[in-house]
Amino acid sequence: MEQKNIPELFGCQVFNEDVMRKRLPREVYESLICTMDTGGEIDASIADAVASAMKDWAIEQGATHYTHWFQPLTGMTAEKHDSFISSVGNCKVVMDFSGKCLIKGESDASSFPSGGLRSTFEARGYTMWDPGSYAFVRDGSLYIPTAFCSYTGDALDTKTPLLRSMDALSAQTLRILRLFGDTATERVAVTVGAEQEYFIIDRKMYELREDLMFTGRTLFGAPAPKGQELEDHYFGPLKTRIRAYMADVDEELWKLGINSKTKHNEAAPAQHELAPIFAKGNMAVDQNLLTMEVMKLVAERHDLICLLHEKPYAGVNGSGKHNNWSICTDRGKNLLDPGKTPEENLQFLLFLAAVVRAVDEYQELLRVSVAHAGNDHRLGSGEAPPAIVSMFIGDDLDELVDAIVAGQTLAHRHRKVMNLGVPSVPTIRRDRTDRNRTSPFAFTGNKFEFRMLGSSQNIAMPNVVLNTAVARVLSEFADELTGKGDLAEAVTALIRKTFINHRRIIFNGNGYSEEWEKEAERRGLANLKTSVDAYRHFTDEKNIALFTEMGVMSRTEILSRAEILFENYAKVIHIEAETMLRMLRRDVLPAVGSALGDMAGTIGALQDHVGIKVNGQRRTVERLAELSDRAYAAVDELQTKVDIFLAAEGAEEKAAVCADTIVPAMAGLRAVVDEMETICPADFWPYPTYAELIFRV
Ligand code: ADP
Ligand code: MG
Repeated sequence: MEQKNIPELFGCQVFNEDVMRKRLPREVYESLICTMDTGGEIDASIADAVASAMKDWAIEQGATHYTHWFQPLTGMTAEKHDSFISSVGNCKVVMDFSGKCLIKGESDASSFPSGGLRSTFEARGYTMWDPGSYAFVRDGSLYIPTAFCSYTGDALDTKTPLLRSMDALSAQTLRILRLFGDTATERVAVTVGAEQEYFIIDRKMYELREDLMFTGRTLFGAPAPKGQELEDHYFGPLKTRIRAYMADVDEELWKLGINSKTKHNEAAPAQHELAPIFAKGNMAVDQNLLTMEVMKLVAERHDLICLLHEKPYAGVNGSGKHNNWSICTDRGKNLLDPGKTPEENLQFLLFLAAVVRAVDEYQELLRVSVAHAGNDHRLGSGEAPPAIVSMFIGDDLDELVDAIVAGQTLAHRHRKVMNLGVPSVPTIRRDRTDRNRTSPFAFTGNKFEFRMLGSSQNIAMPNVVLNTAVARVLSEFADELTGKGDLAEAVTALIRKTFINHRRIIFNGNGYSEEWEKEAERRGLANLKTSVDAYRHFTDEKNIALFTEMGVMSRTEILSRAEILFENYAKVIHIEAETMLRMLRRDVLPAVGSALGDMAGTIGALQDHVGIKVNGQRRTVERLAELSDRAYAAVDELQTKVDIFLAAEGAEEKAAVCADTIVPAMAGLRAVVDEMETICPADFWPYPTYAELIFRV
């Protein structure tokens, strides 16, 4: 194998700090780094210098164009490419890129989801450079990460609220750190590491299934005789073709400065996972979006298709995304690391208490942030966390919380005790949190892992909610603690009060069990089973207050987003229903009809021969004919629901019709089709089966 110099390769397509230091005049470099760390305006002369250096560098990397790369509310990224060329007369051009073009771009906002914002405001939209995330070169273009807003300044993307939420969290965390005597930290950032699951399928098989092509998932398909029950795929050896694909993905990602670190086979056949090393929040979001794009593009080079849908196949595990989250100071201290000394522990426990309260108080909002049509197939179905938000903190911490709630000095429980003059807090050993794969939100030693996300999702919103909710709680903590004489005592009392009030969100048992559903109900925890149930809570006054008071989203922005959530959900379900109807009417039902004709003909021919028994064949024909008849009826039924959907008005109403009637009608139809597949002669069945889709990679 050809040997590659990975350290040299890594980040070679990225305009990172290293390149900036080498290419920018010193004052420009320092000013830019300062803006990257603290936000704030960029001076026009600085912007010009940065733009010019970026352009020269990009041209050396083969770029002829630049693009403001942004994240509209479509769940995907968007880009429009402009070349660097600028006319200088005499039929001559030069390559030009100004600070103005770097900082701000204009874009037509009317073609992106705006949830009603566009009808009331002008269609014009702006993209604004996010200097906190590196620009990079890809396929001949310089990509500039940007935020996207309307003419009036309303955010039309996921990045704007993300950046605002990171600022809010930084500001409130700093207030707490100051109380603990930290005068050195100037800024705090969230760190995020997103573990990405996905399926791989052979491109030829994929192209034979309209459902995969139009909806990203199979709308019917009987289980293959072998699924994941032998558990032989998880962490199993990589197949040659997959290995080659993954190697290619890694190389592309490394060139883009993405720390792709871990790869392995997942639970279901043809399912895999990729995990990067964590990065600063906004960078991690950009990188995850880029990772998903690279995974799809590289797959095509290998005649494969990368499926990012949450549930491509029924009956085997679907794909999710784990959002690892922590808070880190600009001096590199992880604030969710329990630390080794009691003082640190006390501060750690305060942050822990803040997250516990934030997750409890804003559980519905966290649920909203992971709700979309694809993820409805996973949450609560025994393969992924339930639709109920709860937290796992591990036995050690749980014991500690018990003790704090009981008002005990911890000397009774722990060997190592240090006296703070308050209920003493022992050293918390880091690796003693065991794994709990069923928990939606788990403390994993020095970070939290939010596990409800869907694999196809932009991870921005879950982080926006998390950052904002924790910022809000910290701001109340800071208010309460400011001016208190004995800080340790006040902090201890606050931690105790918080744990007493919010203990109900902590659950260390089996989240997949039925008992938990009942127990959660007793505890008064929300159980929002479908996306539509969840979306209805997005605009609860409590949530609007959270976002507006923390300066993360305005009421208008929240209302428009709620509209978009309902709209997107309805569109997805509608497309699925139309695809299913089309595949059945055009292919499956006619094929079954032909099969029946053929089988009946055979029976007739055989009957002419005295003594040949055809009872078994007749029974099969009868069963298939009966199923076919039921399928026709179910198709009509689904069509009726689709008609109701088409006549319904308003995004919420349309989404409700989908969730309440179309989804169940599709499930009913699917059950019949899947049974037909098991008895219809293979020669007649018009689509590749699960056995072919999942095992022929
Ligand atoms: P596990 O296998 O238990 O999920 P890993 O150690 O493999 O845990 O980490 C999973 C992800 O968590 C990786 O993407 C890693 O970079 C990320 N991660 C580790 N530490 C932090 C942190 N402090 N903040 C955010 N993410 C982190
Ligand atoms: Mg994990």
